[in-house]
Amino acid sequence: MSDFPPYPSGLRLAGRRVLVVGGGHVAQRRVPQLIAVGADVHVVAPDVTPAIEGLVGSGEITWHERPFGDADLDGAWYVIAVTDDRAVNDHVSTLCEEQRIFCVRSDDATLGTAWTPAIGREAGITVAVVGNRDPRRSASVRDEIVAGLRDGTIAAPHHRDRTPGVTLVGGGPGNPELISIAGRKALMDADVVVADRLAPRELLGELPADVELVDVAKLPRGRSAQQEEINRVIVERALEGKRVVRFKGGDNFVFGRGYEEVIACRAAGVPVTVIPGLTSPVTVPGVAGIPVTHRGVAHEFAVVSGHLPPGHPEALTDYKALAQLNGTVVVMMGVENAPAIATALIEGGRPASLPVAVVCDGTMPTQRTVLATLGTLADRLAEESVKPPAIIVIGEVVRVAHPDAY
Ligand code: SAH
Repeated sequence: MSDFPPYPSGLRLAGRRVLVVGGGHVAQRRVPQLIAVGADVHVVAPDVTPAIEGLVGSGEITWHERPFGDADLDGAWYVIAVTDDRAVNDHVSTLCEEQRIFCVRSDDATLGTAWTPAIGREAGITVAVVGNRDPRRSASVRDEIVAGLRDGTIAAPHHRDRTPGVTLVGGGPGNPELISIAGRKALMDADVVVADRLAPRELLGELPADVELVDVAKLPRGRSAQQEEINRVIVERALEGKRVVRFKGGDNFVFGRGYEEVIACRAAGVPVTVIPGLTSPVTVPGVAGIPVTHRGVAHEFAVVSGHLPPGHPEALTDYKALAQLNGTVVVMMGVENAPAIATALIEGGRPASLPVAVVCDGTMPTQRTVLATLGTLADRLAEESVKPPAIIVIGEVVRVAHPDAY
């Protein structure tokens, strides 16, 4: 129509009828964005993709299972013509032009009266980038703006969340990229960060200079004294009106004593929020190429703390019962007691030939996998000088991942 740039507008489509003509892959990309803004989405198409069908099944959109008819435009505020038939798209956009309904064309944007921007939402702001028909460029500009809002390089300090309280943030297995977006945001909004040794430390380097960093590794030793001190610090700072992040490796509730902190906060009337993390017993084998379940091989996986040896009076794990299962056993904090654990599992009935993989420093540059069997585990750990942190995966899934080693 012209070389003029588009006029951007924030359409408020909640409850308003939006017609999507076509049910293919372009429609599949647009429809969730329309649902997210509350539009009353109607898809007209003889066939739709399984993903769109799922949205119909869950009642989020209405599907008219037939070709487009002119009357479909009745009551529509906005139309997206995305069939793979140019004649149909032409027909729809011509009718829209006559009726002054804005219409997006996927096949030839110049023939439409509206363009779909690359959309992002962050810090309460909607970012929409309309490129000159170069969607990759728009998307990458959008990504940069969203990332800037997220990490505070764009204006975010003024919009920081200032509500006091404690947020338990799971940092994932170690690689700083594996924290969640919510976790990263909470870190950036924190006044105080209480961090463990296994928390992804590189992320701490990005904290603003005025953030108080409490390093748990430097607190008094002894597990209960240390935990009491952590509870005291997080509660005290929150009561001073600060935003406290309790930052740990993996997930705070998987051998992380996170719930003791929740209890301490509750007792003091401090609000607690939980942001889960990728937990190492699943993700560390995963990045090493070992699935914890596999169809026809393991229909369960059990995650066990190996910090106490089998038979220890305080040990809660029943190794006899564990040995009776068929599935995968994942042992954490188990390097020291691995020989005793292997013996207990063999005594309980697991074969000495059962494959074992020990994954050390998962997701870090120093990651390595040591292969063994239950029978050879003790020797292999010594030969390879395995040090914590390591995840020990015991079961046939290891053979699935390493068929040539067994
Ligand atoms: N809350 C953590 C686990 C804490 S217990 C989580 O959800 O992952 C500490 C144990 O976790 C270590 O002894 C080790 O067995 C395991 N672990 C954590 N991170 C690891 C990593 N990157 N590589 C290997 N093992 C890891």
